[in-house]
Amino acid sequence: MKMGLCSFCLKSGILCQKCSAKVKSGEVSETDLRVARLLLSLEEKFPSLQNVYFHKTVETDRTLAIVVGPGDVPRLLGYGGKIIKTLGEETGRSIRVLENGVDNRKFLEDLFAPLNILTINTIWLPDGSMETRVILGRKRGGRSSLDVKALKEIASKVRNITLRVEFAD
Ligand SMILES: [Zn+2]
Repeated sequence: MKMGLCSFCLKSGILCQKCSAKVKSGEVSETDLRVARLLLSLEEKFPSLQNVYFHKTVETDRTLAIVVGPGDVPRLLGYGGKIIKTLGEETGRSIRVLENGVDNRKFLEDLFAPLNILTINTIWLPDGSMETRVILGRKRGGRSSLDVKALKEIASKVRNITLRVEFAD
């Protein structure tokens, strides 16, 4: 796993001047550090993690989004979901994995997985603000496990987009 902190600092737990400055400034949060260490500790068991670029975490009450490099989502979702399960157990949150630098559709697909997105469109409100409307297809049991409020909050924090989420009949 690679990230903005040196791997030596991450492994040793003692941060060099450069790394501790990033933590002090808030560029790297305490949760980022915790998740980065968790990912590092899982590398031996799940070697695909070695190639993952970890950007940051974004949190809500019960959901934790992990933002990784383009193409890294499958590296975290592999192994029958065991990495995600472990991360969920260790953090007590529901885990979402998102990719940095992708288009809105890909971002939203990862955010709402395993539900299918039927439609994405943009709605202009009378006050000139913009909402992104997402219509999701139903999947057995899928809806109840998704915390739509948390996912909207994550979309706003990661991409600065306001979502309107609807389900197809
Ligand atoms: Zn360092």
